[in-house]
Formats: sequence, structure tokens, C-alpha cells
Amino acid sequence: MLRLGSILDAWRPKPGAGSDPLVSVRSAWAELVGSDVARAAQPVAIERDVLIVLTSSPAWSHQLSFLEPEIVRGLRALPEARELARLRFRVGKIRRSVPIRESPGGPRRANAEIAAEPAARTLDDALARLRRSVERTRDAHRARGGLFCALCDAPVDAGPTCRPCRDDQERRRRFACERLLFEAPWLGSDEVLALVEGLTPEQYDASRRRLLQAWWDEMWRANKLHKLRQPLDRVRLRKLASSFVLLETRIDPLRLEMDSAVRKNALGELYDFVTQIETA
Ligand SMILES: [Zn+2]
Repeated sequence: MLRLGSILDAWRPKPGAGSDPLVSVRSAWAELVGSDVARAAQPVAIERDVLIVLTSSPAWSHQLSFLEPEIVRGLRALPEARELARLRFRVGKIRRSVPIRESPGGPRRANAEIAAEPAARTLDDALARLRRSVERTRDAHRARGGLFCALCDAPVDAGPTCRPCRDDQERRRRFACERLLFEAPWLGSDEVLALVEGLTPEQYDASRRRLLQAWWDEMWRANKLHKLRQPLDRVRLRKLASSFVLLETRIDPLRLEMDSAVRKNALGELYDFVTQIETA
């Protein structure tokens, strides 16, 4: 039988408890998920933005995975856990239960209320309570005047979006920008900035520099392989070389001749190699 004992009504994170996110998550865990869930599932590690949760059985992993977004949203009310984005469940041996944190003033919930709430009889009951507990943490955040991410609805310190959503948007912008620079390297920066919503001139410059470096490195490696008579992807290298020259020089592609001085200058020591690739 499942017993879901002490879910605290006004569960709220204590800021400044320490900078280690795992320590904060572990000390808040039982309060957030309730003691029954805490006995069957424990946070054991954080890898980048993923919290690894050890569970006592595949059934628990399965059921908790349905509540992943809610649990993550609840945990992200902790300042140290703002960057958590996902949970990953692993079945394993639960060593010992995570202690329920007591605040200096004692339990934050009246004993009468705990007594009034019967122990959960089923897994569904336990999970429904977990869900309500997470809602309460969100209500508490809201009551404190806290904001929520415009994209994923997680609690945030400042709007409009949370850090993981912001990172995700940035990744997508960078991807769109780099794709444009590869496919249409003759576009001016103004045109690229107009095409990729939200892209800043600094991000554009960073993408341009990163691409030029990556393309140069790739051509350089291909040049070495060519000397060793290794097979090469000539179609890609031709495209790379032409994008490189156009992005480097900003010359109008219609005016770029195969043996122009502009091309020689841009390709430098790789000029002969690229010429061989293009004429072979
Ligand atoms: Zn978000």
C-alpha cells in the first residue's frame, strides 16, 4: 500500500540554500513529490539540464514520466534548479530515503492537515497528489508575484522566457542563420538579419566567423587527404569553397570568376587544391 504522507501545502524553496543544484533538488525532493513517491524515486545526478531519477521499478518510471513536465516545473521553482529541462528515469536500488527537510520554524504545514489527509491507497492517488503538490508550488510562486515562461510555463525569475527555452530559441536562430550563410552566402548581413527573426548582429557575426573557420578547417583536412590520394566528397568541397569565398569577400557571385585575384586571395594556400577539385 502506498502512503503519501507529508506533502506540504505551501512548499516553497528557500533561496540561498547552496549553489549545488543536486543538493537543493535532493533536499526539496520529498517535500515536492511527497514521501511515498520519494521512497520509490530519488534524484541521484544532474547531467547538463537533465535530472537523473532512480526509481524502484519500471512501473514507477513509466508513471512518473507522464508527470515529468509538472515535476520539472515544480523543481524549477528552486533558484538552483532553474536550468533543469528534463528528467531521465533509471531503475535501480534505492539506498535510503531522502530526508524531508524541516525548516527552522518546524513543519510548514499544520499537523491537523497532515492527519486529515489519508495515506494514498494507490499509485494513481499518489500521483494525483504529486500533481496537486506541484500546482501548489506554482500557486505559491504566483502569489509571490513570480512570473512564468511564455513558452513552457515554468516558473522564472524574470520574463519572458526561461533559460532552457531561450537557449533553444538561440540554437534555432543560429541554425537558421548558418544554413542561410551556407546556401546563400551572397546575402548581406541586413538581409540575413531580416530573414531570421530575433537574430542579433552579434550572433550573425559569431555565426559567420564560426562557419568560415569550420569551412577552412574542413578544406584543410580535405587537402591533406587529397595528398594521400584519399577519396573526397568533391561536390561538397566545391560548394564549401564557393560559399567560403563569397562569405569571406562579400563579392557578387555573378562577378566571381574562377581565376580572379579575389578568389586567389581569399583561398590563399588552399587555392591550388580548390582549383584541382573544381576542374577534376
Ligand atoms: Zn521555458
